Amino acid sequence: MSKTGSCLCGDVNFSYKSDPVMFLMCHCTDCQKSTGSPVASIIVVSENEFSFSGPTSSYECEAKVTRSFCKICGSQVFSRIESAPGVVAIKTGVLDEQPTTKPNLVCWTKSKPDWFEISHPEVSFKENPN
Ligand SMILES: [Zn+2]
Ligand SMILES: [Zn+2]
Repeated sequence: MSKTGSCLCGDVNFSYKSDPVMFLMCHCTDCQKSTGSPVASIIVVSENEFSFSGPTSSYECEAKVTRSFCKICGSQVFSRIESAPGVVAIKTGVLDEQPTTKPNLVCWTKSKPDWFEISHPEVSFKENPN
């Protein structure tokens, strides 16, 4: 899997060096609002191996997640989570190549819409993982 990605318009580009430390799906309402979708699929990589270029803006939500997005096209590119310092979370939709592995865990299953049918990883949390 290549370790690069970009936003929809291509002005924001990023890369990371090592394999992701985690691959998760999140059905929290913040992810739903910010992605406009029933689930966010996210890889987590080490912050000091991550770099990006291009015009970003960011929004910090109440849960202290700072979501950075392309100023031009609005694609969400990466997030920093105050409670998880040292890592960067990247939505899989902005990767140049999709992961070949399956997600390790799913969180916030309690806000998954009933109409949305999906097979979840075995490790599953109703809210945030503890
Ligand atoms: Zn863009
Ligand atoms: Zn979420």
